[in-house]
Amino acid sequence: MEELVALCKRRGFIFQSNEIYGGLQGLYDYGPLGVELKNNLKQSWWREMVFDRDDVEGLDASILTKPNVLKFSGHETTFSDPMVDCKSCNQRFRADQVPDHCKKEDLTEPRQFNLMFKTAVGPVEDKDSFAYLRPETAQNIFTNFKNVVDSTSRKVPFGIAQIGKAFRNEITPRNFIFRVREFEQMELEFFVVPGTDDEWHQAWVDARLKWWEEQGVSRDSIELYDVPEDELAHYSKATVDIMYKFPHGLEELEGIANRTDFDLGSHSKNQEELNIQAAVIENNESNARLATQNLETNEWTVPYVIEPSAGVDRGVLAILNEAYKVEELDDGKTRTVLNLKPHLSPIKAAVIPLKKNHDGLVEIASNIKKDLQKLRLGRVLLENSGNIGKSYRRHDEIGTPLCITVDFDSLEDNSVTIRDRDTMQQTRIEISKLSEYLEDLIIK
Ligand code: ATP
Repeated sequence: MEELVALCKRRGFIFQSNEIYGGLQGLYDYGPLGVELKNNLKQSWWREMVFDRDDVEGLDASILTKPNVLKFSGHETTFSDPMVDCKSCNQRFRADQVPDHCKKEDLTEPRQFNLMFKTAVGPVEDKDSFAYLRPETAQNIFTNFKNVVDSTSRKVPFGIAQIGKAFRNEITPRNFIFRVREFEQMELEFFVVPGTDDEWHQAWVDARLKWWEEQGVSRDSIELYDVPEDELAHYSKATVDIMYKFPHGLEELEGIANRTDFDLGSHSKNQEELNIQAAVIENNESNARLATQNLETNEWTVPYVIEPSAGVDRGVLAILNEAYKVEELDDGKTRTVLNLKPHLSPIKAAVIPLKKNHDGLVEIASNIKKDLQKLRLGRVLLENSGNIGKSYRRHDEIGTPLCITVDFDSLEDNSVTIRDRDTMQQTRIEISKLSEYLEDLIIK
């Protein structure tokens, strides 16, 4: 973990947030390379969930959330952790995460601590004028259910996908970007006919495993955890967690829950007419019926929901951890390399003139760079440093799949040398074939 954290800072992937003022615990900023990696991961998820399917719509809803939403979702009463204070070191810990150096006799009795952040809305700050920062993106998918159905004429089974920030006042944020207070989630709420939910649940577990593998997270680093009944969240009938071997241990990367008809049922008016299966709180505040009607029988049904919910930041950490390698080379030296899947690499290609500031070489390199940029595959850089070895090392370390070197022969033969990050093999290729080559490499 220390090596990864150091690499992330040195190369501009991830920085401690508010660092110049001493930092703020549980917050991180994504730097020039980190933002590319993170965006690429989110884009890959969106493609898989929305573009490549015919049964999912997208959504981007607000972060500030009316208290009623989180009252009826059950978060106000249940979204809390038991905490203890240590009278010796004056720190507060989650009851199940007290460090060894605290003695049992110094600890207070556990007390519930709600994890949701509140903020004042409007000019007057009183007890009725607050909103929550959403603790999960899911809830405003549910509150928009009717809007989406009415505007798209969707019929179950179908899903609504959303990527966005979520906030939790974690008691002990730690392990770099694994447990933070501000993070991003990629959530799909997939609505199904009750009775088909178990089958869909399994289908989504399989689909999500396959996707993580395509992002470079090997199946060997993953274990599935069937959450036992006494550990299930209040809304869940069954949950399978995708557990990843993070540098600090085996922990949750994504949870795939069968949320039943709990959420739509909870946020619905006229609940008594809807044959809701889950134990929901009576709702006299909502103005919408979150159900679908069978036009032949006129019967209303609240769909069940299967929810694959993944953390973007945990995804970035897992992917970096999988990709990070320190390799022994033939000459006894070592190199650090990030074997990122090319579609996730922050920089897609680096074009390097053999000699710094040489007019002819730089002109060719610059034209190549412009042509490759036009492909819109991501960032392409011109490395006019004159130090090929150093450029290769830097690009290995940040996971650039392709380095393109323009040398003096290029002036004569319209060809360049390409170097593959993973094999370090160098091949000669015509400049006119570069676009196709890069496209194949990134999109394949
Ligand atoms: P944990 O048990 O680790 O606190 P959770 O079960 O509360 O996680 P969920 O509510 O299922 O997490 O949230 C779905 C996903 O959101 C998680 O799988 C994880 O990837 C991500 N996530 C949740 N909390 C955090 C956090 N504090 N920091 C980073 N990512 C988080």
